[in-house]
Amino acid sequence: MNRLSPELIQSYAGQRRKMVEEQLVERGVKDLRVLEAMSRVPRHLFAQESLEHRAYGDTPLPIGENQTLSQPYIVGAMTEALGLKGEERVLEIGTGSGYQTAIIAELARQVFTIERLNNLSRKAQKILEGLSYMNIVFKMFDGTYGWPDQAPFDAILITASAREIPESLIKQLGDGGRLVAPIGEADKQKLVLLAKNGERISRRDLGDCKFVPLIGKYGWSQ
Ligand code: SAM
Repeated sequence: MNRLSPELIQSYAGQRRKMVEEQLVERGVKDLRVLEAMSRVPRHLFAQESLEHRAYGDTPLPIGENQTLSQPYIVGAMTEALGLKGEERVLEIGTGSGYQTAIIAELARQVFTIERLNNLSRKAQKILEGLSYMNIVFKMFDGTYGWPDQAPFDAILITASAREIPESLIKQLGDGGRLVAPIGEADKQKLVLLAKNGERISRRDLGDCKFVPLIGKYGWSQ
């Protein structure tokens, strides 16, 4: 059966509801718009076909090229922390499978997403176009530079880990904007929420996490 057929997408609706209840609501994700988006988006389409049956489990999944589709709870917690209301322009670094991109596209006006690995970017683009998202702009590049000619952004999400948040990205965050990123050592990080208000930048830890490295000019070297 075609992976995009409405029948197949519907057959996973029960697993999606269970994922949202048991993995997100139980752990404290409250934003109704995030919960609804994650109940709608067919996560199994972003998993490798052989792992489709595990798409709604409580784990990250490999997507090839040593990269991962993040655990549902982490996607929910990071998205909630961005505080999206619907009108934002959002920069995402690390398109990966495109699943998190889809969740943001449901909740914001426009998503600018950058992936350094061509194969992953192309694959994600194909899936997201198949799902008819019209508010996503893709780029294959080193995302540690950000997307200067589209800045400032209302929100920035970094889905790979660095020792520090690249200054280049902090500069591209608009006034009143929020940035979420996994920050720390290669094997263990804290999820950090940075908020910019005029000259003031506040920073809050949201808990432990473990992400693949952000590789590039202002991240880890290859
Ligand atoms: N959010 C993604 C999802 O839902 O599938 C998971 C992203 S995965 C954990 C991190 C991604 O960041 C990988 O695809 C990796 O290739 C990408 N990445 C790492 N360094 C990057 C960089 N400098 N610029 C753009 N993408 C980068």
